Amino acid sequence: MGKHVITMLPGEGTGPEICEAARRVIDHSGVEIVWEYEDIGLDCLDKYGTLLPEKTIKSIAKNKIAIKGPTTTPVGTGHKSANVTLRKLFDLYANVRPAKLIPVLKRPWDQIDILTFRENTEDSYAAIEHMVSDEVAQCLKVITWPGSVRIAEFAFKWAKANGRKKIQCVHKANIMKMTDGLFLEAFREVAKKYPEIEAGDIIVDNCCMQLVRNPAQFDCLVLPNLYGDILSDLCAGLVGGLGFAPGANIGDNCSIFEAVHGSAPKYAGMKKVNPSAVLLSGVMMLRWIGENAAADKIEKGMNKVLAEAKTLTYDAGGTASTDEYADAIIRAMDTV
Ligand code: NAD
Repeated sequence: MGKHVITMLPGEGTGPEICEAARRVIDHSGVEIVWEYEDIGLDCLDKYGTLLPEKTIKSIAKNKIAIKGPTTTPVGTGHKSANVTLRKLFDLYANVRPAKLIPVLKRPWDQIDILTFRENTEDSYAAIEHMVSDEVAQCLKVITWPGSVRIAEFAFKWAKANGRKKIQCVHKANIMKMTDGLFLEAFREVAKKYPEIEAGDIIVDNCCMQLVRNPAQFDCLVLPNLYGDILSDLCAGLVGGLGFAPGANIGDNCSIFEAVHGSAPKYAGMKKVNPSAVLLSGVMMLRWIGENAAADKIEKGMNKVLAEAKTLTYDAGGTASTDEYADAIIRAMDTV
């Protein structure tokens, strides 16, 4: 395969240190990538007057593939999230987040391999909020038929292509009969076209309880935006924490790969957080662009380092720095 030109958005907080570690590992896999580094996030405000500079938008639009580090969004006040803006701008409607048990990390379960497909552009994330009076705030939850159909289609297609057996739609349609009701109805309509995949649904609160009690029963979940955000973090916690949870934001024209976690600002500059989530997002990206051999090599190297359990970051029970862990994976990749 020829060279790929890919936009790298290191982001903020711990973003730059984990993205750099992941980039070094990806470059060692043999894949030929020309990285275009671009700015995003609060740090851009002084320099460009915006969280998402035009130059960054142009690079993503041209290359159609990006890896993104986390960005920081002030809670309660301030600017709209750069992530939400990016997802809407490029219509990255499918957020795919795998939660797969890494065998060497000791967990109370033997088997977890859950894929969440989160609708990424609608729901209460449309950020249509206003004050009705001084004492009443209102947020609109927007669910559309086309938006619901396309995430369901995406999930069934992905499931079929990857040999998955079961998809459940997660909702609260017993209470939000119109919005979640529409999402569920669209899912059921699409499911009819895929009789080979078992389709069902589950109410979101029950789903949380079942996930914690018996996660092995789940295969693929399709969710509206907000439930998808929350439940994918829950799934990340089940398999070993946010340090191991990758993700992809996919649209028809462009895809941005990023970890589930945020910028973990309290650890910024300490070079101690785990780069695995962003690295595994890179592995998803390599598979998306057809570089399966490079993706396999990285996964094998990482699994070897985890199995040896000598060079682990703090969240996996070790004391290694971000760079020491990445270096160990690089060395392991030469031996697998
Ligand atoms: P967070 O995910 O940044 O961190 C929560 C905790 O998880 C951390 O304190 C740490 O203990 C652990 N953690 C996270 N990443 C880790 C890693 N790579 N290795 C080891 N441990 C890790 O969540 P938060 O503190 O709620 O949010 C911080 C900021 O990140 C906020 O401004 C939030 O808006 C933003 N955020 C951004 C994204 C994104 O850019 N995609 C996603 C979520 C949150």
